[in-house]
This record gives sequence, C-alpha cells and structure tokens, in this order.
Amino acid sequence: MRTSRKNKVKPFYRYMQRKLVLLFLIGFMVLFGLSVVLFTIAGNDVEYKQIVLNQQSYESRDIAFERGEILDRNGTVLAGNERVYNLILDPKIILSDDRKYTETTLNALTECYGYDRAELQKILDEQPGSSYVRFEKQMSEERKELFDTYEAEFNENQAKTGGKQKIAGVWFEEEYRRIYPYDNLASQVIGFTSSDGKDGRMGLEAYYNDVLNGVNGREYGYFDDDSTRQREIEPAKNGYTLVSTIDLYVQQVCQKYVDKYVNEVGCKDVGVIVMNPQNAEILAMAMKSSYNLNDPSDLSGYCTPEELAALENNEEERTLKMNEMWKNHCISDTFEPGSTAKTFTIGAALEEGKITGNEAYPCGGSLWVGGHEIHCHNELGHGTLTVTQTLMSSCNVGLMYIAKATTAEVFSRYQEIFGFGQLTGIDLPNEASASGLLYTAENMDPTSLATNSFGQNYNVTMIQIAAAYASVLNGGNYYEPRLVRQIIDENGAVIENTSKVLVRKTLSTSTCEFLKNALFQTVEGGTGQKAAIPGYRMGGKTGTAEKLPRDEDTFIVSFVADIPADYPEVFIYVAIDEPQVEKQSDSSQATELCRNILKEILPYLNIYPTEDIPEDETEAPEENPDGEEPQEGEEDGEEEAPNPITIIDNNEEYNNGGFSGEKPRHDEEEPGEGQDPEGDGQQDGQPPAQEGQPPEGDRQNPSWDDIPTGNQPPGGQPSGNENPSGNEDPSGSEANAGPDQDPGQNPEDGQTPEE
Ligand SMILES: [Zn+2]
Repeated sequence: MRTSRKNKVKPFYRYMQRKLVLLFLIGFMVLFGLSVVLFTIAGNDVEYKQIVLNQQSYESRDIAFERGEILDRNGTVLAGNERVYNLILDPKIILSDDRKYTETTLNALTECYGYDRAELQKILDEQPGSSYVRFEKQMSEERKELFDTYEAEFNENQAKTGGKQKIAGVWFEEEYRRIYPYDNLASQVIGFTSSDGKDGRMGLEAYYNDVLNGVNGREYGYFDDDSTRQREIEPAKNGYTLVSTIDLYVQQVCQKYVDKYVNEVGCKDVGVIVMNPQNAEILAMAMKSSYNLNDPSDLSGYCTPEELAALENNEEERTLKMNEMWKNHCISDTFEPGSTAKTFTIGAALEEGKITGNEAYPCGGSLWVGGHEIHCHNELGHGTLTVTQTLMSSCNVGLMYIAKATTAEVFSRYQEIFGFGQLTGIDLPNEASASGLLYTAENMDPTSLATNSFGQNYNVTMIQIAAAYASVLNGGNYYEPRLVRQIIDENGAVIENTSKVLVRKTLSTSTCEFLKNALFQTVEGGTGQKAAIPGYRMGGKTGTAEKLPRDEDTFIVSFVADIPADYPEVFIYVAIDEPQVEKQSDSSQATELCRNILKEILPYLNIYPTEDIPEDETEAPEENPDGEEPQEGEEDGEEEAPNPITIIDNNEEYNNGGFSGEKPRHDEEEPGEGQDPEGDGQQDGQPPAQEGQPPEGDRQNPSWDDIPTGNQPPGGQPSGNENPSGNEDPSGSEANAGPDQDPGQNPEDGQTPEE
C-alpha cells in the first residue's frame, strides 16, 4: 500500500510543481504590470485625482465639524451652534435621463420656496454639467423639511401609481451657525466668529479659536452597478467645548446694574469685575458698551442715529467704531488706579520691613515734596493716624510717609511683583500692559514716589488691579486671572483643566492678614462705610482718580470689595469713568453700584450674613460716625473735594483721556510755563496744591525732606513743619524722564466685521 501510494503521489507532485511555477510567473507579470500602472498614476498626481473625481462625480462633500460650545461655569450654553442647511442644486442629475426629472423638480422648488423659475432654469442652462450649485444658504431645519416632505410624498405617490416622474438633483448640505442665546450678555468676554462660524474674532472665541475648531469630515458618494447610491463617510472631528468661569446669573446681575447706571445716571464708561480671589477665576466681567453677539456689526445700540448716518458711507470710520464697541474695557483700557492702590503701597512697606504696621503718621492736610505741596484730600488734616487708619481714611500724607520709608527702589520692585506694567496673562486677546506708563526705580524722583504712593501718576488696567487684589486676599498667591476653567470634549471628558496658574508670591500671609483687616476696618469705620451690607463682614477701599487734564474736573471713581473679610470668596471691582453727576469725584457712585450688585449675588453664591443685623439697619449707615466718611454733597469729606491742581503733562493725546487706552505720559519734554513740573497732581479729591514754594512764614505743614526714613515710632511725629530748602529747583524735570512708551496692544487694530 505504501509503495503504490508513493508512486501515485510522485507524478501529481511534479504536475503541481509545473503548475505553480506557471502561476507564479503569471502572478509576477500581473503584479509587475500593476506596479507600472500605479507608478504612472502616482507620477501624475493631477491626472490621478481627475480620474478619482470622475469616478465619484455623483458627490463628494465636506461634513462640517461642530465648533465647541462656550458654557458658563454651571453648564449653561453661552455660545452654541444651530444646525443649518444649504440648498444645493445638481443640474447634472436634474437634467439626466432625458430631462425626466426637470419639470417635477423645478415645480417642487418653486412651490416649496417660491423661487423664481426663470432663475433656476438659467442655472440649468448655464451649468448643465455641474453637480454643485449652492442656491440658498443657512436654511433652518423647518425650511429644509418643507422640501423633504414634498419630495417624499411626490416620489412615493409616483411609485404607488406607477408614474415615471421623480424629483431629483436637490440636496441639502449641513453646516452650523454660531448662536449666542443671551445676545448682549458678556459680549466683550465671549466674542464672536466669522459668519461660517470657524474664525473667532474677539474674546474667548478668538483666544481659544484652535481649541473650539474641529476638523471637517468627508462623505464620498457614488452609484454602484445597480445605480444604487452608496456612501462612504469619514466623520468630522468636532471642536472642544470651553467651560468658562463666568457665572451666568452673576454676569446678568452685573450687567443689569451697569445698564441701569448707564441709563439713569450716565458715564463715559464703566467696568465691573467679579472674581473668586482664591483662584482668580472671573465670575463676571461687565461693561458699558455691550453689543449683540448675534449681530456684531450692528452699531445701532452703540451710536446715535446721527452718528450712524454719518458712518453710512465711511467704511473706515465704521470699522473703527465697531472695534471701539467690541473692545474689552476691563483689560484693554488703562487709567490711574487712585486710592485702591494704597493697599499695595502699604503691603510693600510691610513686607520689606520698612514699616512694622505700628507706626503713626501726622496729617496736617499736606506735605511738601520736591518743592511742591501735595495735599491730602482732607485739607484740614487727619491728625495722627496709624497705618490701618491711614488706609481707612485714605490719607495721602500717611501714604507719602510710608512710601518715603519704602524707597523708590522697593516701591518700584513691588509694582512689578503686583503685576503692574505687565500682562496678567488672562485668557483673552488684546490685553494692555501699561508698561510704558509706570516709573522705574531709576526715574522715580521723590515727587513721583510720593504721588505713586496713593495711586497717581501711573496707569493700570482693571484686570491688573483685580489680579493683584486677589493675591492680597488669598494670602499672597498671584494667579493668572482666568475665564476658562476646563476644556472638555463633546462627551464631556476633560481634556484640560486650565484654572489656577500660580505666577508668583506677592506677600507673606501675615502681611496679607494685616491688609485684609485694614480693608475690613475701612468698611467698618472708614471711607468704605457706604458699601457696607448689614450682617456681612466685608472689606473694601474707595478710589477716586482725577483724569487729565486735571483742571477739567473729570474723574474715575472706583471701589473694591471683598466678602467675607476673613476668608474672601468674592472680590468685586467697580470703576466708573466720568459719572454724569454734578460732582464726579463722589466715589459713592461706585460704592453704590458695587453694593447693589453684591446684595443680589451674595445669597446666590451661598454667602450669608454672619453678624447680627440691627433692626433699624437694613441699609448702609447714612452718617459717618467719625466724620471721616463724606456723604454726598459734603464739601470736606473724604474722596470728595474736587481737585483743580495743575498737573504736568505735556502730552496732548494723554490729556484727552485717562481712560482711553495707553498713551505715553511721562515724556521727556520740559514742562511748559505754568505747568507743574513734578506731576505731583492730586487725586482722591484733594484740594489745590500751592505752586512752588510758599513764603517762608507761610509754611504750615512738614516737608518730605524732613521725614526720617525707616520706621516711625508708634504715635511718633516725624520732624517737620520746617521749610524745605528754598533753593531747590522746583522744576525737577528729570522726574519726567519717564518710562518709555509702551508699544502696547492696540485693541482697535485690524478687526473688521464679517458679512
Ligand atoms: Zn490725610
């Protein structure tokens, strides 16, 4: 058996061997041939693509990605998408099969949408070979369904009755339209996109454009041998969603009171920032000129009808106006901070051991510095005040004493530590740094140091002040202020946590505790009393900055507040530019606005009163028990008196507005005649300073030059009441060899609206 089997196998094996060799040769030749073809095709990319395109001429189209949403911190959609449809005509199909579909299809289109039949016919005549003519853009779902229903019913009916007619060659291309459910709300923060929803133009939409955008997919369609439509789909990759730090409700409350103020009182501009100081997350950022994100080119809410008419044929001016409207006042405009900055002056001195906090300083109403009498806003003088009382009463003289002890070098270093003159790193485009609007240690002469000590003669942005305050309130951590806390994908999976970026330490915990207490005392018994909300332990500080030119009596009034004072969970900063009231320097305008907002948002944020509320005290105290806090209409109150002092500033541009973008202010020109060469102008409603040196016998108040540097003994009086050297050159023009101009960010650059 074995042998015979062996014999049979042998011839079969040989046969197979020959057959395999043959097959191999054939296979090799086929492969070789194919590779030649492939090589040829690959060598001519254009030709290859042409072949492919012809093969799938039926359809090959993009599948639009869905741009990521922008949510508020609780998941409410602030910027979302609506699915819309473009109506596409395929003349090639409409005209195919001996024009079997032409009449019925044109009928359907005109009946559903009232299109002009002649117009449709023209397209068929002119582009008979085309497969893609976009006839109507961004139709709603309902509008699209009109046709879908008509087509389905017609074709079904034909099939039932055995009719040969058919509607064909019309299809709908899907895309997304960006929608903003809250129209004007937080418009400068959210920003908007180009009309195709893929190019962020302002705000978060611009800053996070790449994150929000996805990648289009592709659909390939073709007919198989049975003329059945087949599809292959490469799905789109949708963009990531931003979970912002904005709280819709808090934002709405802020905007409500801002709008109310603008309508009832009026002002040039106003900004409100609400922040969690523990992590620098921004809960709300509101300002005057909000615009409708669903129609960002509409200037009607921003310009008067007359202004609009003038812009009609002036595209350039129109673009400028729109950029102005879109600008985020809280991060792009700079201004003198005024007394809200006094907290940082004291902080720097304490931190460096230049003062202990136990000192006391005498205020006689003014102090002579560099040949100029610089006044306190209380012309009569505050008497002797402790460091805390100096902040409580916002005493300029006390601050000048503290700054002298601090030295220009340390003061300047702490301006940097607190982030002034630098970008905060907030996640928004067009942030201004104001770096050119600060002195350096080298060019900060005594007068500049003195005026800087109470927040004058340098510029900041609102967000810089807010971020610096947050660090004081949270124990010394300077975090980048944040508007987005998380980036998530369409399924809600976290891609990135973006909040709480620690930049540096500003102050030690003990210094922060001292300042927090001083701020608390300021609301308890100082200039911040009007902001008090019964039952709450709250810190706060007023600020009144006179704008340039100083003799125009225009002011920016501001207020910062933190609650609860011991461990602040909310920080609010309100700044009103040129309130349209008789007395612009009345900081109660800002205090009131701040208080209105806080009263509504605190319970919502689960921050409740911790102190007993006296029965008769449902409102803020109307009287200032210690006479420090001015009430409306009082001439001699804190933060009140107008300040007609002449301030040096030769820069015309800057003179035109302290709140209107970055302009150089410490230019190197010699001061003109009659101008104050020191730039030691007053703010906080100080009474006028005397020019130059007073006659010997007239000197009432001490001079900076007589202040001993270093620590003052508690309750001690600095030596004073003597004239400064009468020989001093009052011009001190080197003081004005100021900082370089900041090339800065011009938020008005370049943005144009998309049609
Ligand atoms: Zn004073």
